This record gives sequence, C-alpha cells and structure tokens, in this order.
Amino acid sequence: MVNYDAIIIGTGQAGPALARRLVGAGRKVAIIERKLFGGTCVNTGCTPTKALVASAYAAHVARCAADWGVKVEGAVDVDMKAVKARKDAVVASSRNAVERSLKTLEGCTVYEGHGHFVAIKRVAVNGYELAADRIFINVGGRAAIPPIPGLDRVPYLTNSSMMDVDFLPAHLIILGGSYVGLEFAQMYRRFGSEVTLIELAPRLIPREDVDVSQAVAAFLREEGIDVRLDTRAVGVEKDRDSITVKVEAAGKISQVVGTHLLVAMGRRPNTDDLGLDKAGIATDGRGYIQVDDQLRTNVPGIWAMGDCNGRGAFTHTSWNDFEIVAANLLDNDHRRVSDRITAYALFTDPPLGRAGMTEAGVRNTGRPALIATKAMEDVSRAYEKGETKGFMKILVDQDSKQILGASFLGLAGDEVIHCILDLMYAKAPCTVMQRAMHIHPTVSEFIPTMMGDLVPLQ
Ligand SMILES: Cc1cc2nc3c(=O)[nH]c(=O)nc-3n(C[C@H](O)[C@H](O)[C@H](O)COP(=O)(O)OP(=O)(O)OC[C@H]3O[C@@H](n4cnc5c(N)ncnc54)[C@H](O)[C@@H]3O)c2cc1C
Repeated sequence: MVNYDAIIIGTGQAGPALARRLVGAGRKVAIIERKLFGGTCVNTGCTPTKALVASAYAAHVARCAADWGVKVEGAVDVDMKAVKARKDAVVASSRNAVERSLKTLEGCTVYEGHGHFVAIKRVAVNGYELAADRIFINVGGRAAIPPIPGLDRVPYLTNSSMMDVDFLPAHLIILGGSYVGLEFAQMYRRFGSEVTLIELAPRLIPREDVDVSQAVAAFLREEGIDVRLDTRAVGVEKDRDSITVKVEAAGKISQVVGTHLLVAMGRRPNTDDLGLDKAGIATDGRGYIQVDDQLRTNVPGIWAMGDCNGRGAFTHTSWNDFEIVAANLLDNDHRRVSDRITAYALFTDPPLGRAGMTEAGVRNTGRPALIATKAMEDVSRAYEKGETKGFMKILVDQDSKQILGASFLGLAGDEVIHCILDLMYAKAPCTVMQRAMHIHPTVSEFIPTMMGDLVPLQ
C-alpha cells in the first residue's frame, strides 16, 4: 500500500491543473492515466477537430478564391496524409506538454494504467494499491454507441478512430446532427467527401433555437451536405465496399449507401469500470457521478470533475470544475457550479457562440424580456470579408436590463460572444454596453448598437 495525500484518476482538463495546485500546497499526490495524457480535449476532441477544421477552411477558401478575386489554377485537392500529419503535430505538442509537466512535477507520482476503486479510499493501478484521504475523479467520457441492429458487425468510426483517418472517405455517413457530427460533416465535405447526415430530431442541434438550427442546416445544405432530419437509423449492414444504413422517415424505410460511417450520437461517462460500487459512490441512471454544488460526491473526501459528473460537457466546464474544487479546498473561497453561466461554441463555419439562455428558454420562463437581432449581412466587417451568413440575437430581462442570453451565429461568433458573457458575469445592465465605444470595423462594434435596438419579446 502506498499512501498519498491525494489521488487523481484521469488526466483530462481538471486533473493535471489540480495536481499542480495540490503539490504547490505541499500535498503528496498520485495521478493515474490509462491512455493518452490530456484526455479527450487534447487527443480526440477540441484540439484535433479544430486543427482539422482549419485545414477544411483553407480548402474551402481556396475553392471559392474567385469570390475574392483570387485565381487558383486547377482543382483544389486535399492531401489527407498532410492534413492528418499537421493535426498530429498540433496534438502531440499539447499531449507531450501535459505529460512532461506531470512527470517532472516534484511531489507528484504518475501511474500509467487503469485506476479503479477497491475500497472507499483505495485505488488499484498496475498491481499497486494506493490510499489517500482525498480522491479526485476526472475520467471523462467516450462516444455512446446506440443499439442499432447490425452496428456491432460494421467497422464504424467514432470521434476517436476518426483521428487515424488519413484518406478521403468517398461517402461519409454521419449518425447524429449535434455538435460533434456537424463539425465532422462540414469538415469532410470541404475535404471533398460526399456527406450524408442523419438526425432523429426534426432539426439539427435541437437544444438551440429553431432559427439557429434552420440557419445551420441551410448553410450545410448549401455546401452540398445531404441533411436528413426526422430520420431514424434502424439497421446497418456492411457490403464489400460499402456500408448501408437503413433509415425510417415519415413511416417509410429507405437506404443510405456510403463508404464510411461515423457514429456521433452523444457521449457516455467512463465510470462503468471504475469500481465505484466498491467505494459506495453514487451515480445517476446514465452512469454520471452525482455531485453537489462544490463537486463533492456522496462519499466524503471524494470529488468528481469534468464530463464524468454530468454537470458540463466541455473543456471549459471541466477546467471550471478544477477551479471550484481548488478554491474550496485550498483558498477558502466557496465557489459553486451554480455560479457559472452556460457558454459554449459550435465550431462550424460560421461558428455559433452561445451564452446563457436561448430565446425558447426565456419564453418558457414567461418573464418579460427584450430581444434584439441583427443579420450578419448588415455587419460591415462580415460584408467586407464576404462572410455574411448567420445572425446575432441578444435577450435581456425587461426589468433589470441584465442580459439573459445570446446566440451569435456568424463570423467570429465564438469570440464575440465573450463581450456578452463578461457583462453577464458582471451582472451589469445592458445599458453599460450600450455606451461602450467599440472598434470599427469589427463584428463586436454592433453589440452596443444592438442594446439600443431592443424590443419587447412578443
Ligand atoms: C469531437 C469532439 C470535439 C470537442 N470539441 C470541443 C470544443 O471545441 N470545445 C470544448 O469545450 N469541448 C469540446 N469537446 C468536449 C471536451 O473534449 C470534453 O468536454 C473534455 O475533454 C472533458 O474533459 P474531462 O476533464 O472531463 O476528461 P477527459 O478529457 O475525457 O479525460 C479523461 C481522462 O481520464 C482517463 N481515464 C479514464 N478512465 C480512467 C481510469 N479508470 N484510470 C485512469 N485513467 C482513466 C482517460 O484516458 C482520459 O485521458 C469535444 C469533444 C469531442 C468528442
């Protein structure tokens, strides 16, 4: 038995940062990683997909160069081996930095293997048994694979195995029209694949407002992606060189035939092989570890951070979990999960930046509210750049004048949304922003103007 002050299972977004804080506070720490340092974000999530999105954007701009008066002779071909090599280099740099920083962190011992609970404050890894009064779980999640008949007999891809693809699929079928599926759909279409996107719901990204879903579907269709909504995959078969997905739409069965299949139908937590029952740690029906507002599990001395606690599904929510745990534990600062404001982006082109509530969410509360929208066509910077798809929408509480939420679908929407987010954190009325002088010509310059254009939400 090896004793530590703290054990961290998983090196996702929260674990390594917490290890550094704990060691800095004089604690003896063990951290366990069973696969790739840095976890999903670094290896199979944000970092590689955004590197690939960048390559896809370059291909798109090259193909449409004439729109900007630039001549590109001949067809634009994408060298998928080079695209993958670039992505791998970006990923390796981040992964190696995480690994190196942990392995050289004095006071921190790194175990490379599968960690699992064997008792309430004990974790086994590689034949060692570790004990600590404080244990932090940061095991993340993986792609959920739905029980579609035949899927288990077909070589389907997930966000993880997509990372090894160094060729152009002739026809990529994607199951799932949410954030992960949409990014891959646009990216592979721009690389040159035929892409069919199959979504069960009547619209893409159904958590967003209808106008957002419709605008995203429109620009994906415009690029040639076959977007099938209200469509259920009911069976999958592999033939010699093709994969057939049997689909049901409007009560009729038909077939989509492609060469490759990506399953992007949600995520599940990596908690099924963690021995949680040995420690008595409670999960919900889907396996997410139940935590309170300070990320404590039901077992005193054990915390869960990141995707595995079901309180967030993003790198920044996992990082924020680390900050909350560290603040409560080491700084006597009682930060809470409920203090954070919903924020995320969809990294299509144009991207969607989101903060706070959707319009539908505000309507559901029934509170008096104000709304302002602006088409990107009317944003001079977007017009100058020739990137005018999308719109911006801001919702404000009628009485307090505080911002309730915003959806920015358009050029730099993933960046501009932070104007709104920071004002929301400041709990400042929108009139503060209305008087701010923003820089011309930028997308952000219209945010103060929009605050002057607010009208009652009918
Ligand atoms: C395709 C894709 C794109 C994404 N893009 C974005 C984006 O642009 N922006 C964004 O904010 N989020 C994005 N996300 C989500 C983001 O990647 C995750 O929310 C984030 O990585 C979660 O981090 P985490 O700290 O919970 O754990 P993870 O990063 O999942 O890491 C968990 C680690 O724990 C290890 N582990 C698991 N079980 C054990 C065990 N028993 N013993 C030892 N080690 C174990 C795993 O190997 C892994 O390294 C994306 C996700 C996907 C799939």
